[in-house]
Amino acid sequence: AKASLGTDVCFYEEEMDEAVRNRRRMAQQMREALDQGQFSLNWQLQAAVDTGDITGYEVLLRWIQPDGTFISPADFIPLAEENGLILPIGEWVLRTACAEAASWTEPHKIAVNLSPVQLGHVDLPRLVHQVLVETGLSPSRLELEITETAMITDMERTTHVLRQLKLLGVSIAMDDFGTGYSSLSTLRAFPFDKIKLDRSFMSELDGGPQSAAIIRAVLALGESLHIPVLAEGVETLEQLAFLRDQGCDEVQGYLLGRPQKTAEAEVQAAARVLW
Ligand code: C2E
Ligand code: CA
Ligand code: CA
Ligand code: CA
Repeated sequence: AKASLGTDVCFYEEEMDEAVRNRRRMAQQMREALDQGQFSLNWQLQAAVDTGDITGYEVLLRWIQPDGTFISPADFIPLAEENGLILPIGEWVLRTACAEAASWTEPHKIAVNLSPVQLGHVDLPRLVHQVLVETGLSPSRLELEITETAMITDMERTTHVLRQLKLLGVSIAMDDFGTGYSSLSTLRAFPFDKIKLDRSFMSELDGGPQSAAIIRAVLALGESLHIPVLAEGVETLEQLAFLRDQGCDEVQGYLLGRPQKTAEAEVQAAARVLW
């Protein structure tokens, strides 16, 4: 028994080493990706529920390696947050997105995702101000999406940073609403300009009455707090019709448009049948 325990421990350590090596390799690859221009941006449109008009575009980071391998942001962003690379990567996203949007003929809004690490570790208001000046993008066209994780780790500091950001004239959206432990107290802590209802509620909408009830409750909450609600992950006409009937303000999802290399000028025909 002793011997086999010994081998188990040894095996476990080897696996640990392997995991550590993998993370180091991935970190090195991320650095190269940034230097060699392997990162790019995708744009996914957001639309007003009552008119079908495009209200803005969410900016989504893409990493395609030289051999064509696609690595999902859901996989590399957590690692980039751990090793700090999210700071230069996030800065690249912000600068590139603002520069591109500033060149559009139509002045649509853009929504850029911010990591809690960015909110906690850099002089973010200074960076955002600098990028807006550099690119000439009007602050009113920039929305920053943050998740409640940023609020939980240091509520006081985060709300201070968010207030400074708002003074620049940008708006702040609460992302993935309803998935965390303290979505409601987060709403109380800061006057968000938009609530983005997490897409899990949409995917479970057909599964039973719970999701529908929660969506209705969040829409009522937004209404009484005077905060517009955007529903994420809208994939079917039934979902869109439900959201319209319930008074949802904005929608985003594959039904209206997939994330694309360039900002699409129109919502997809499938969604337009409702308007
Ligand atoms: P998120 O901020 O919630 O972004 C929305 C995600 O939902 C995107 O995944 C988008 O492609 C996907 N999506 C959009 N419509 C639909 C739909 O109708 N159905 C389904 N099933 N999915 C839909 P993506 O691009 O893989 O990004 C995953 C996450 O990675 C994002 O979630 C965000 O948390 C993070 N992320 C992406 N880009 C950035 C970035 O530039 N900075 C930071 N910090 N995080 C980013
Ligand atoms: Ca987002
Ligand atoms: Ca989201
Ligand atoms: Ca409403």
